Amino acid sequence: MLKSIIQDLKDIATLSGINSLLSWDQEVYMPPHAIDARGEQIGQISSIIHAKQTSVAFKEKLSKLIDLDTGKINASLDESDAKLVEEIYKDWRKHNALPADFVAEYSRVVSKSQHVWQKARNENNFELFAPYLEKIIALNKQKANYLGYTESPYNALLDEYEPGMTVSDIDPLFAEMGAGCKDLLQKIQRKQADAGRKKLDWDAFDFDEAAQWDFGMGLLETMGFDFDRGRQDKSTHPFTTTFAANDIRVTTRISKHNVMEALSSTIHEGGHALYEQGLPVADFGTPFGEATSLAVHESQSRLWENWIVKSKVFWDGHYTAFQKAVSPTLDTVSLDTFFNAITYIQPSFIRVEADELTYQLHILIRYEIEKEMINGTVNVSDLPTLWDDKYEFYMGIRPENSAEGILQDVHWSAGLIGYFPTYSLGNMMAAQLYETLENEFPNLTTMIKTGDFLPIKLWLNKHVHSVGRRQSGRQLIESVTGQNLSAIALLKYLEEKLL
Ligand code: ZN
Repeated sequence: MLKSIIQDLKDIATLSGINSLLSWDQEVYMPPHAIDARGEQIGQISSIIHAKQTSVAFKEKLSKLIDLDTGKINASLDESDAKLVEEIYKDWRKHNALPADFVAEYSRVVSKSQHVWQKARNENNFELFAPYLEKIIALNKQKANYLGYTESPYNALLDEYEPGMTVSDIDPLFAEMGAGCKDLLQKIQRKQADAGRKKLDWDAFDFDEAAQWDFGMGLLETMGFDFDRGRQDKSTHPFTTTFAANDIRVTTRISKHNVMEALSSTIHEGGHALYEQGLPVADFGTPFGEATSLAVHESQSRLWENWIVKSKVFWDGHYTAFQKAVSPTLDTVSLDTFFNAITYIQPSFIRVEADELTYQLHILIRYEIEKEMINGTVNVSDLPTLWDDKYEFYMGIRPENSAEGILQDVHWSAGLIGYFPTYSLGNMMAAQLYETLENEFPNLTTMIKTGDFLPIKLWLNKHVHSVGRRQSGRQLIESVTGQNLSAIALLKYLEEKLL
């Protein structure tokens, strides 16, 4: 019976892969007038997938292995199969918990909201978006009720992105992270001012695009990205997507001016892609062939981007080659000036452009506000002020308008509530994994300096990537690092690197 269920899941994964290919093409190559047909194509495949996920036949097979009401295994299965069935059941419940008319209403509201949000942000008019945000909050509360939860309805939403993680887990982690980052920010700002450091104006530079592409491709190869099982292309918003176990795509974005844009996105997406390429191929389509969680995924991209490539030792070993690659643009810029520029700390209103330190505060603020929205302890009309107050409290800056403030991110208009925390959890996990790598490889800094990345990749393959959903994110980090998930390693890393 389990075999037949696994085959059904693999069929669904094939269809999902087709959908990913269609979406990838939409972002990378598709001519603009194809958009309606593409929407239709993706919609048709999505309905077939949904029908399979909610079919009576699938339900009956699953009920032979697990009690669909209690979630208790009712067949004789070994430990591994029992765990697999439990994970399949969790997915099945999520796919079947929401009534069809609710799902339809939800996607109608979300699709309209995103348009309205765009307009509201362009016109700097929160009142325009407010009624939609109100609806989205109401729908998410309803969704939490359908999915079921203990303690806070926010936990049901969180579980969609970071299974098993709850508000009572995150609150103490984020409190520690927030206090530490706020304190560190003030110290760093004083130090930067004393040293007369200024933010580098990338607009004054002009980089060759082909040179940037080539350097990034070289790094992807050094990281161990398998070009026989994937490729890189360009898109407006960089992303990683999986069509099949042996076909993982990444995209990057090249700026003529800011040379770090292409480099950062190539490495970041490369980290995500190494994870996808490192998942067990034979389990593709089943929970064991899927990434553990969004936070663990983000830990992989951040580890490569910030801990490995945006480190002083990496640039000690690679700056001359980089200068040569993009010559003459950086010929007269010293390594110190360059490194100071890419690690300059400055509070800003824009999360996606934030430095490593203030990034955590952007996330913390969103988490605190989301919880209040879902718990109903704040009125939507009060959100802009709440947002601005938090920016002032944590970063000492106050948005001048709602376009700079509450209307910053697309997430809420897209119905994504409970997603933000995974970014910071990912950073905490990356910090703990890096400490473990330091213990595993006493010459880690030399390896990073010389670009000897393969042992790092293989270690991650073995200890992180191959796990799939056999463990939760928290379990995985605790078993690999031997430490409880916490903000300590992250704070220590930020202090050592930036102060
Ligand atoms: Zn990412």
